[in-house]
Amino acid sequence: MAELYQTFLPRFSLASLSRAFAAGKSHVILDWMSAYSLYLHIPFCRHRCAYCDFNTYAGQDSAIPAYVDALIAEATGVAGAAATDGAGEHLPVQTIFFGGGTPSLLPAESLARILGAIREGYAVAETAEITLEANPGTVTAGYLEALRGLGINRISFGMQSADPFELRQLERQHDPLDVIRAVAWARQAGFEQINLDLIYGLPDQAIETWAHTLEFALALRPEHLSLYALTIEEGTPLYRWASRGLVSQPDPDRAADMYELASERLDRAGFTQYEISNWATRSPDGTLLSCQHNLTYWRNQPYLGIGAGAHGYAGGYRTANVNGIASYIARIRAAGWQGFPLSPANATATPIDRETEIKETMMVGLRLVQEGVSAEAFKGRFGLSLMERYPREINELVGWGLLEWAGENDRRLRLTSRGRLLGNQVFMRFI
Ligand code: SF4
Repeated sequence: MAELYQTFLPRFSLASLSRAFAAGKSHVILDWMSAYSLYLHIPFCRHRCAYCDFNTYAGQDSAIPAYVDALIAEATGVAGAAATDGAGEHLPVQTIFFGGGTPSLLPAESLARILGAIREGYAVAETAEITLEANPGTVTAGYLEALRGLGINRISFGMQSADPFELRQLERQHDPLDVIRAVAWARQAGFEQINLDLIYGLPDQAIETWAHTLEFALALRPEHLSLYALTIEEGTPLYRWASRGLVSQPDPDRAADMYELASERLDRAGFTQYEISNWATRSPDGTLLSCQHNLTYWRNQPYLGIGAGAHGYAGGYRTANVNGIASYIARIRAAGWQGFPLSPANATATPIDRETEIKETMMVGLRLVQEGVSAEAFKGRFGLSLMERYPREINELVGWGLLEWAGENDRRLRLTSRGRLLGNQVFMRFI
């Protein structure tokens, strides 16, 4: 441990480190010991899909240039605040994720400007994972080549379904052929990490069409698959249709069958499930090609959220930016920096106390179905063991076959395969 701190001491003063220890600020120490992940939100879409309740807007493309300027100003401002407040000159960054929305609506030149500013303001690792979410209907071979040239090394396509009727029902703006083309072009451009997002549990979806979607996706040989069960969110067109009886409510039992079918099929195809909704293949040297950016969330490690509606977790705060594009741009233009990790775009900045941090660490860590929560990391971070903190909860959940100790010397607490189906009930026991 002492060696670890020494490694980081050049960036931080011994006095401030001691103050954080004395105050029991494990999150501050954690920030100091970690590289950051950077999330950049791109809230533009061609059309709002029928099920979507994300922070995204259609018909606002004329705001893209001003939005890109604001995004760059926020990223640069946060880096500047970190340097001024002693959190570190050029914060180390290990992953960058362009999420949305539809980030692939940004011209390659805009992405180049954003990445240029980030590389100037932060110490981006040479091996950093840089992901961009893309709608398969919005890319061309030339665009994907340009992205690869910018150092974007992972692409995530929102495929959702291989069934044209389902895609129309969801009001997606692409068809299955677009997905085939987009993946082929991404390979040609040199992408070695491709994710496909799929969605199941649609109204009246037959198991057979879901099985077809899985086969279609596997035939494209992605390195990573994210599978999400549809939830009908209030305020969406799908919610209104379901309320009026125009479409059926999703059937949770059938969705559970689809999840199990996917688990078995992906297992046979050589994928490893590493999180409740995420599967990955391995590289030739055996490395699991999981999404490093999302692992930051599940390990409850620090990340900065830049852009309208983006969320961050750094310096002991959870931050959430204002949602609207115009209000985001106006706040960044008005400036008013208050010090790291805060930004003028924050609608809320909630201090996270140690107790909350412990609960959140359990809740997100147990989503990692292989890795689970490491007993050693938990003790190192909070100064007490898992069994000291949660003796009754752990004993009961292990007794019911929902949790298990795994790894050498029982070093990891994780969900059993039965526990994965009842994940939410397990997580509730820890909060
Ligand atoms: S493409 Fe994604 S973010 Fe955009 S409207 Fe559809 S579901 Fe929402």
